[in-house]
Amino acid sequence: MKLFETHAHLDLPDFAEDREAVISKCFAQGIEYIINIGFNKETSYNALELAKKHLHIFSTVGYHPHDAMDFDAEVVKKLAREKNVVAIGEIGLDFFRNLSPYPVQREVFANQIKLALEYDLPIVVHDRNAHQECYSFLKKEKAREVVFHCWSGDLIFAQQVLDEGWHISFTGSITYPNSNLDDVIRLVPMDRFMIETDCPYLSPQPNRGKRNSPLFLHLVAEKIAQIKEITPNEVAEASFNNAYKFFRIQPDPVKPAHHRKRKQ
Ligand SMILES: [Zn+2]
Repeated sequence: MKLFETHAHLDLPDFAEDREAVISKCFAQGIEYIINIGFNKETSYNALELAKKHLHIFSTVGYHPHDAMDFDAEVVKKLAREKNVVAIGEIGLDFFRNLSPYPVQREVFANQIKLALEYDLPIVVHDRNAHQECYSFLKKEKAREVVFHCWSGDLIFAQQVLDEGWHISFTGSITYPNSNLDDVIRLVPMDRFMIETDCPYLSPQPNRGKRNSPLFLHLVAEKIAQIKEITPNEVAEASFNNAYKFFRIQPDPVKPAHHRKRKQ
């Protein structure tokens, strides 16, 4: 199975002991691409470092609603120009944990949507208990390329998002016994969804509670396959193609037949 991991946090200290080993294992076991997501200044820079080290890792820059108080537009502008940075995110609103005041979250989200449009980058949205507000902000700014990461909305909201041409991304949370996303999974067309682990968080069943990694991404694909009554390979292929297009991945540079002499 050829997989595209669209949302990982491999730069976090959870992977301090074995980061490169995990990454090597991922690429050896069918993970072809990884988007490593930033959520503040430090993680956006660390994500970019990781992307520079690996041909098939790309990164994002953005301030998560929890980190909205630290927002610095200059950081976003600077990193948005890097060729390894393929999206603005994760950005959005979180009215569940409320770690930042609502007005700050709103202002920072709106600012970053504007930056994404200015720098012509797709947007990775974090939406927790803020569906309609996230929708309104994106709609108001006329954002076109949007993925709702770690989908948690109902069927009606899913239809609203799909009507805008936006994408829906599923994590291991769809494998939990209390998941109520089966209807949304059945609804979402093959060309409009992605899969992700959000590692180190949200380990899919039967690994719930353990550290998550892209190595468990196939469990998300298998769950979607079961619900949609198709094969895991079909899920993997569709989500791969959707992500490849969404993040505008370019084919690998072709190795020249003869190595040029390096200029001193
Ligand atoms: Zn995340």
